[in-house]
Amino acid sequence: MDRIEKALRDAKFLLIRDAPFLASRILISKPTLFVNKHFPAATDGHVIYITKSKLEDVADDELVKVMTHLLSHEVMHIVLQHVARGVGKNKIVFNMAADIIVDTFLTSSILKGGILDTESHLNCKKQLESLTEFIHSVMDRLPHKEADMLEEKYHYSWYEQKIVKPFTVENLYNFLTELFELANVELEVGIHPMDEVIPREMDEEEKIETESVLEGIKSAGRLPGVLEDEYQTLIVRFNPIKFLAGIIGKALKSIEAQLRVPSRRGVALNSEYVIEGFKSSRGAKILIAIDGSGSIGPTEFGAFVGIVDKFSSVSSIDVIVFDATVQDFMEDYELRTKKVKFKGRGGTAIKEVIEFLVEHSREYDLFILLTDGHIFDHIPYKELPIKSLFISTDKPIEEVKEEYPCFNEYYKLDIVSLTIK
Ligand SMILES: [Zn+2]
Repeated sequence: MDRIEKALRDAKFLLIRDAPFLASRILISKPTLFVNKHFPAATDGHVIYITKSKLEDVADDELVKVMTHLLSHEVMHIVLQHVARGVGKNKIVFNMAADIIVDTFLTSSILKGGILDTESHLNCKKQLESLTEFIHSVMDRLPHKEADMLEEKYHYSWYEQKIVKPFTVENLYNFLTELFELANVELEVGIHPMDEVIPREMDEEEKIETESVLEGIKSAGRLPGVLEDEYQTLIVRFNPIKFLAGIIGKALKSIEAQLRVPSRRGVALNSEYVIEGFKSSRGAKILIAIDGSGSIGPTEFGAFVGIVDKFSSVSSIDVIVFDATVQDFMEDYELRTKKVKFKGRGGTAIKEVIEFLVEHSREYDLFILLTDGHIFDHIPYKELPIKSLFISTDKPIEEVKEEYPCFNEYYKLDIVSLTIK
């Protein structure tokens, strides 16, 4: 391990200690050391690239600090989905806007007590200052009338030298584009490094991990107020149906992993051969219970089933629609031929559904409960017989977890933004 590899390892440890939310996302971005690139660090929205050759001149005692800054800077571009949001836009201008957002985030309260106190924070602050100074100097060149117009249109504060509201990368980008056009500024590549990588789409699991970083920071009360708009933009951008499908995809992976555990005797499993105590490697059978009194409608549900159906590891989906009692039970083939009816009578009890699950647990691999969370009875089990996901469309997860602790995973689905794209 050379000194740069060692600095990368130490920077990861520092971030796990000081900024765990960011660190968790950094670890799945597999920071990779590269050579012969033009910039010290870059991301394709997926992997973080660190340029080894750019760090060779950095002194030993500075190296970890620089590395910490690079990792947290790049991962914030990932968390805020800047790569995907910048597609089709002027790369230099967009990168400038995205860097202002990221460095604002890193210099505000989020990492207090952590990397904020180090040189890496100063690097970050310096970078932010030079960017805002540059913008300010361009604003200076404009006639008063035009400068006033821009300030009003983009809520730019001359005094604070920044966009006040809405502080999103798109708004900043539009502001900069118009400003540079009015002031006749020709940007050189040298003004600011732009990422030299091909954007790559995140897979569903990465998206969920990414969203959970933001949710985590937000619920820990550590999202700087100035980033509230950027946060809202991202949450709305998030497609809840894909989000749901992602949750299920993730659960299926763990089920598959269990199914593929080889037996001690080394007996291979295949689709026709089932040994007592083992499940075969057939596709997973899913049981979904939908609370008809909740806010999930047939259209949303249809789109959801359409996506889950595409998972090759799913062999079938059965559905229970319930409110105070079970209203409907549909097996896989029925589900495909007729529409699920939602009765929505209000009043939800879960007893019958859970009794059904316990009785038929051998037939299923995954149980999903879709409900608004307002249920008037309780479940007399410490744990459910199969992997179970509780998805609440209204009641907060903390309350749901406390009332129904027998599920494996809990998710909150923002039904207000449930739209089909
Ligand atoms: Zn950047």
